[in-house]
Amino acid sequence: MVNEKRLIESFMELVRIDSISREERNLADFLIEKLEDLGLEVIVDQAGEKVKSNSGNIIARLRGNIKKATPVMFSAHMDTVVPGKNIKPVCDGEKIISDGKTILGADDKAAIAALFEVLHIIKKNNIPCGDIEIVFSICEEIGLKGAKNLDISSLNAQMGFVLDAGGQVGKIITTAPSQNSLEITIYGKSAHAGSNPEEGINAIQVAGFALSRMKLGRIDEETTANIGIISGGKATNIIPDEVTLKGEIRSRKEEKLEKYTERLKTIIEDTAQEFKAKAEVKINREYSCYNLSSDDQVVKTSMKAVKNMGLSPELCPSGGGSDANIFNKKGFPSVVLAIGMEKVHTVDEYILVKNLKNTAQCVLSIINTVTSGEN
Ligand SMILES: [Zn+2]
Repeated sequence: MVNEKRLIESFMELVRIDSISREERNLADFLIEKLEDLGLEVIVDQAGEKVKSNSGNIIARLRGNIKKATPVMFSAHMDTVVPGKNIKPVCDGEKIISDGKTILGADDKAAIAALFEVLHIIKKNNIPCGDIEIVFSICEEIGLKGAKNLDISSLNAQMGFVLDAGGQVGKIITTAPSQNSLEITIYGKSAHAGSNPEEGINAIQVAGFALSRMKLGRIDEETTANIGIISGGKATNIIPDEVTLKGEIRSRKEEKLEKYTERLKTIIEDTAQEFKAKAEVKINREYSCYNLSSDDQVVKTSMKAVKNMGLSPELCPSGGGSDANIFNKKGFPSVVLAIGMEKVHTVDEYILVKNLKNTAQCVLSIINTVTSGEN
């Protein structure tokens, strides 16, 4: 039932509308009009004002005609990373890529295109279904900020499907890590580098020692750590009195996250003390992990729907956070589904037309599965 031509055109049209984080408004206006044309009730929440975006999250509802069907929610984020302006998608019939100067934006517009395709199919063929809610969130790429400010209790749905993972359709993400962000400032003492270096304490060097004592990268199967930004110093003839390091730690186990965060903090503080410098370590919880199992209804429904498509479901962990971390934390069970996007967050990002179609089929299959009560 999926119309390949319409789906490709819809996807290409979506990626041509710029929507980097905090500038989702043009895309939002476009989507609202389309959703209303398809007969959905649409509201835009106040999240934009809270996170300094020019748009809020879109919450849309299709009133189904099968009252006993479990109401479900599908979500995708509207924002993209950079370079994400003036995207020129190219399709050779099998694969869609950008012109190499920007990302493609399949993350997450492949999901939005697939959802619209399904809404078209439902409307055109009068397909029986229960209530379907759609959330298009803002600012996912800059810390899940839209989802954090979404009032999840306003939804009728009992479970959510977040269409936002790479890999082949059929992959179901049932667990994702918690993340702590770290902002470390090391205070040394400035002095003239040539005439009286003895009086200085080089904050950059202290940071260097501390870094050399840290294990970064993959800590274990469930835990990773990174320092991604270092900044400090004013001139080559001044001993730097301040340096800032920014990083993150992730783990799918809370205890491990806390333990490793504490470990890095201790290394920094001990190293600073050794060199008579001072350190300030700010730790912030960005999002929390979730762990769903094959007994959870949302996982069962996903698996059933994938099987009904003739594919094999694959339950996988993720190393990254998504809006699903926030939804689950708020008590709303949600899985993340793979939509076939590849090399996301790079200018080599692409998606196969086959996967675009499979994503739409997968959404349709979930709807059919819950409508028939098979879940
Ligand atoms: Zn994404």
